[in-house]
Parts: sequence; C-alpha cells; structure tokens
Amino acid sequence: MRDLAAADAAELRQVEDQCMAVARAFGFEEIRLPLVESEELFSRGIGVGTDIVSKEMYAFDDRRGKRLALRPEGTAGCARACIERGLLHNQTQRLWYSGPMFRYERPQQGRYRQHDQFGAEIFGVAGAEADAELIQMTAAIWEALGIGHAVRLEINAIGSGASRAAYLEALVAYLSPYESELDGDSRARLRMNPLRILDSKVASTQRILEEAPNLADYLDATEREQFHSLRELLDALGLSYRVNPRLVRGFDYYTHTVVEWTTEGIGAQDAVGGGGRYDGLIELLGGRPTPAAGFAMGMDRVALLRQAVTEGSPYRSTDVYVVMQDGKHVPEAMAAAQALRVRVPGLRVRLHAGGGGLSAQFRRADRSGADWAMIVGEAEIAENRVSLKWLREDRPQAFASIEEAAAMIRDAQTDGR
Ligand code: AMP
Repeated sequence: MRDLAAADAAELRQVEDQCMAVARAFGFEEIRLPLVESEELFSRGIGVGTDIVSKEMYAFDDRRGKRLALRPEGTAGCARACIERGLLHNQTQRLWYSGPMFRYERPQQGRYRQHDQFGAEIFGVAGAEADAELIQMTAAIWEALGIGHAVRLEINAIGSGASRAAYLEALVAYLSPYESELDGDSRARLRMNPLRILDSKVASTQRILEEAPNLADYLDATEREQFHSLRELLDALGLSYRVNPRLVRGFDYYTHTVVEWTTEGIGAQDAVGGGGRYDGLIELLGGRPTPAAGFAMGMDRVALLRQAVTEGSPYRSTDVYVVMQDGKHVPEAMAAAQALRVRVPGLRVRLHAGGGGLSAQFRRADRSGADWAMIVGEAEIAENRVSLKWLREDRPQAFASIEEAAAMIRDAQTDGR
C-alpha cells in the first residue's frame, strides 16, 4: 500500500474534486460509508466464486470473533446502508461516495492494494434512463478532467434470472468437452463462475470461445428492449460506445447492463471505470426488491491517465511566501499572512519558518513555486503596510496596505497570470 504525498496527493485530490462537482451538478448526494463491513456482505453480494471475494479480500476476525473485511468496492456497502436506513421505500436515491478500497492483488503500475474509487449509484429506477444518465455523468467527469478523448466505453447486456441460467447451462455444456484445454483460471471458473471465462485474456481460451453460444441469443424480449432503449438514449446524446458481447464483470450482482471504460494511456491496467445494473442486490441483502444501477472509477488510474495525456501546469504548493526582516517580526508576519488569506479566499499563503537572512528566505520563496513574496519588516510595520515582490514577473515591488496587496493578487489571478 502506498503513501501519496505532495504532487501525487494533490493530483488525486483534483480528480476527486472534479468527480464530486460533476456528481453534485447531476443531483447526487454524498454518502459516507465505513471502510469495514461484515465479510458476509461481500461474499453474499459480490459472490463467493468471484476473484474479489475468494482471492483478494482482506478479511479478519475482530476481538469477539466476528468476521469482518476491508471493503473491496463500494456498492455492497452503499446498498446495505440504504436498506438499514430505510432509504429505499417509495423513493429513489442518487448517491455518490469516494474513498479507499482494498484488494489483495499483485501490485503494479495502476494496481494497488489500497486504491481510491469514486462511485455513484441510482436506486429505485428500473428504466434505461438511469443507466444512460450514469454514463452521461461519467463522460462529463472525463471531460471535466480533460481526458474525454483518451477513454472508450464498452457496454453489454448480460441478462438476468432465467435467461442467464439458460445461457450458463449452454456455456458450460459447450466448454466442458474443452475443459483440459482451458487455461487454469478458466478451468476453475467452469464450476465456480463460468460467465467470467468470457473475458479471459488467454489466447487459447479465446480461440475456444469463438464458437461458444452467444449471450445475446438468450436474452428475453424485455431484456432486449431494455438494452435497445439504452443504446437509443446513448445515440441520442451523442455518447459513443462499442457493444462488446464478451464484456462481463467480476461481480455476481450485475444484471442486464454492464459497462466498462478503458484507455490505452496507462499500460496493462487499462480499466478506468465500470459499472452496470444490479436489480437483484437489494433483495439479496434483505431489502425489498429495488432496481438499481451504478458505476465506480479508479481515481489512481484516472490521475495517471490525466498526467499522461494532459499538459498540467507544474505542481506548486504555495502562491505567496511570507518573509520577514527579522525573527522578532514573526507576530506581525503571521497577522499579515492571515489578513491576506481572509481577503483572497483560496490563496495559499505560507509563512517562512526557521529563521535565516532575507536572501536565504527568498531562495526558499523561489523554490516553493510562489508567485509572490510578501515582506514584513521595520518599515512595513511602522506604516502598517507590506511589501509585495513579484517572483515570476519583472515588475516593481509594491509597498502597499494589505487591502491593496490583496487587490493586486486578485487582479493577477483573474488575468490568469
Ligand atoms: P471494479 O469494481 O473492479 O470495476 O473497479 C472499479 C475501478 O476501480 C476500475 O475500473 C479501476 O479503475 C479501479 N480499480 C480496481 N482495482 C484497482 C486496483 N487494485 N488498483 C487501482 N485501481 C483499481
């Protein structure tokens, strides 16, 4: 598990801020969920045959011997919370969450044992407009982050109930004669989770799958109609997608629609987000039958992608660096720094600490990336003013009141510096 500091933390924060802003604009509300749930929530909700539950979960006993797990994803906990709080009776919910997820996977670029996801769920809407709106919102997030051109959407209809059961039977009947030729993972899945074999990346398994029965042929009329409606909506909105008949996802709770966003910009771990409809989950977890759909994106991967495809301005932590003529001016310098912060909301004002002469302090100011140094010394204090020095522009230093200094900084900021 990694630490993220300074520029890396700032990058992730920016991604999260954009996700939140877009979700709010779509009328979603935040839900904060515990990082720890009962293990059973995940084994029941996600499915015991899935990799996430059988291989990747951090599960442990608490002091009383209750089985708990660090959450590997957000949907199951979100559904549990809505059931417990009675949020699903005769009402719809649009919720977003953000935070760390835990999976015991082999770490590599873009795959971490603790990673951050941003997700959104719509409860109580059966129609394809919910699926379409989630896709529209995700696309809006990519645009807000400047990576819309670097991601692709794939969708698929995976049926539910009887259609899925009939398909799985046909798939297993087709694959069983090839059992010994399947790759090891797929062989194990033949009994535990045959649907997942469809997205095997192993070439020999893919060749066997070429002649396999087609999931689309097993969908009933309503399921076809629902997928058709979703496609019509996406077309009407001008959102491009590819139907990938092999797309299935690593969770048992998905029904009807699954979606995945991928990129070529960050290496092997190419999925930046995914989701779908899970109409059976609420009932499975003890609630009343409630249609639902959602998505989650991996913010660490999104941050990597953003770094790869956009020309971000270099990371800086400070806008104004406050230097003082002498150590005895600390109280006035602190007061001036705070006065400036109050007058220019969002301005990052950092007070020099640790003493040293003016030239050493200016070197620090320069290294901090600040655009300005604000100087507090004898002359300034005597006249209740500060000196404002432009560090990146050839402009004369100003001897100004805090109000005037704040106005100059605000003007420079609105001019886009
Ligand atoms: P999933 O719930 O598996 O579909 O995950 C949702 C998103 O989270 C994926 O599309 C990835 O972008 C991201 N993600 C999943 N697992 C990891 C991981 N181990 N490290 C980083 N990001 C991940």
